[in-house]
Amino acid sequence: MWLWRLLSGVNKRDGRILHLYVACNNCHTPVHVRIDVYNDLTLEYGDREQAVGYVLRKEIMDSRCFRLMHAEILFDTTRRETQRTVDGGVFVDESVYHQHVATIQK
Ligand SMILES: [Zn+2]
Repeated sequence: MWLWRLLSGVNKRDGRILHLYVACNNCHTPVHVRIDVYNDLTLEYGDREQAVGYVLRKEIMDSRCFRLMHAEILFDTTRRETQRTVDGGVFVDESVYHQHVATIQK
């Protein structure tokens, strides 16, 4: 199970790009954000100044009500995602975003 999750995670990431789909809490508009895990992450250090992993803090704005959402994603030292949180919104499935795009293009 663990291995399956690991492999599917790598496939979905198409290499170095991590795709985030976040919906605004206020207007529920989904937003797609691309993260380059080799350029966008910040190295974090522990109490003894050893590298403990990476962190990404990103401000995301939807195109309807323009409220800012603050995403924070933690990664281990191999740049694998370990935890994600977002203020002002929720993470949604990729299909939710594509449904939204299909709707506004009609
Ligand atoms: Zn909004």
